[in-house]
Amino acid sequence: MLDRPQENCGVVGVFSLSGTNVIPMGIDALRALQHRGQEAWGLAVPNRKPVKRMGLVSSSSSEFKKLAQEYSSPAAIGHVRYSTVGGGSLENAQPLKVKDLCVAHNGTIANADEISNMVGGCTFTPQSASDTLVAAHRLVSLISENGKMGKALSILKNEMIGSFCFTFISDDGAVYAARDPKGFRPMVLGHKKDDDVYIVASESSALSAVGATLIRNVKPGELLRISAEGLESEIFSTEPERAHCSFEFTYFAHPSSKMEGANIYVTRKRIGKMLARKFPIKDADLVVPVPDSARPAALGYAQELGIQFDEGLLKDRYSKKGPLRSFIEPHHTERMEINRWIMPIREIIDGKHVVVIDDSLVRGTSSRAIVKALRRAGAKRISMLITYPPITHPCYAGIDFPSQEELATFSPDRRELSRQETIEMVRNSIGADFLGYNSAENLADAVGLPADSMCFACSTGDYASLGVTPKFKTRREMKGDEMDGTEAGAGEG
Ligand code: SF4
Repeated sequence: MLDRPQENCGVVGVFSLSGTNVIPMGIDALRALQHRGQEAWGLAVPNRKPVKRMGLVSSSSSEFKKLAQEYSSPAAIGHVRYSTVGGGSLENAQPLKVKDLCVAHNGTIANADEISNMVGGCTFTPQSASDTLVAAHRLVSLISENGKMGKALSILKNEMIGSFCFTFISDDGAVYAARDPKGFRPMVLGHKKDDDVYIVASESSALSAVGATLIRNVKPGELLRISAEGLESEIFSTEPERAHCSFEFTYFAHPSSKMEGANIYVTRKRIGKMLARKFPIKDADLVVPVPDSARPAALGYAQELGIQFDEGLLKDRYSKKGPLRSFIEPHHTERMEINRWIMPIREIIDGKHVVVIDDSLVRGTSSRAIVKALRRAGAKRISMLITYPPITHPCYAGIDFPSQEELATFSPDRRELSRQETIEMVRNSIGADFLGYNSAENLADAVGLPADSMCFACSTGDYASLGVTPKFKTRREMKGDEMDGTEAGAGEG
């Protein structure tokens, strides 16, 4: 199970009931989802091959006008891609087209090889491996057997293990959006009054970017169809259990987005306040965030304890890689390049006991680099606090924590460690004087959702919400030949 590249990313679907060309809106929406995928992007309209480009959406800005004219359509879907290593090619960029249906996917289908067997296995070769393509083939075959998209999804959701938010566009011009029954990945619905446009997207930041108003979350297990007849909703799964990804709230989502009713910026600030109650380091001189996602939590922490907050670490936005997010870069060297451009300000740090706050500690490399940089800048003592609980297991539902052996919490001699021993091992390896992690309960409280409606599988190893016991694999087994960055600790956090 799960030995192929995963599809995570951000998706969008736009339909104008007044017939306006939605391509410019689709592009703007994708730009507002750029934090969910930096590798490639694409758009699809009915009866055309999808347009796909490598890199950031903004890198293709010189083409926007031409694309808007050439692909002019009142209906479109789009995708920004963040993949694991093996699938980082234009061929695997999305949307993908199967017969008369184009598909964009955010999530992971962990048993793609089993689904592939159901469609003859022909779509699933090591060279063009994509769980989305496999699911799309299966969906198209289920639609042709059962007539309806909702019925097809109600069958497919029982066959698939993993998570999904899909947007589809069919050659008859309808846009569809579907969210998995447990709501692992986020999806929202909005409306723009001018031009009578409905828009579905991974996050509400995309709605704000096009001037649309957030109507509501797409419900887990819901299928939306938007066509000339208007907006229609169908529930294809009535499962009551929820497993909203907790990592979205601390790291992945845009701070301006509203997710499951909670604004991300406000939530992160609240997480910082709650972290202050858990770890009140009152003799600290300064609270410093690791840019960028940890900034609101650091502010919340500092305000709660009345300690000075300052930007002691800055990302160099003028360097080529500086503005990017390192965790979602697929290659070790690229992640390191991004981390290299986080620079300490000696005048702020020198001689101080610094509490440095980060949103997560995954592989540990960037934490190690940051501690080193703070020491070089003269920090007297470094206490590191992490707003997410210790990540000890891989994610099988859409985030790239691909193998246990890469995680900072992985014991090199494979000994079972207690939580305290694990924290001490990580503290030692990153070189901080103190290391404290948030708890799942604290995090859920700050988000305002019951802990049992959120997924914490990567920090508990309890995969019940996926309904499977994953077979853990090494990085090499999971990534094939393109593996790089073999040392544990190659990313943000
Ligand atoms: S395992 Fe972790 S990263 Fe993956 S969906 Fe669950 S909470 Fe999110």
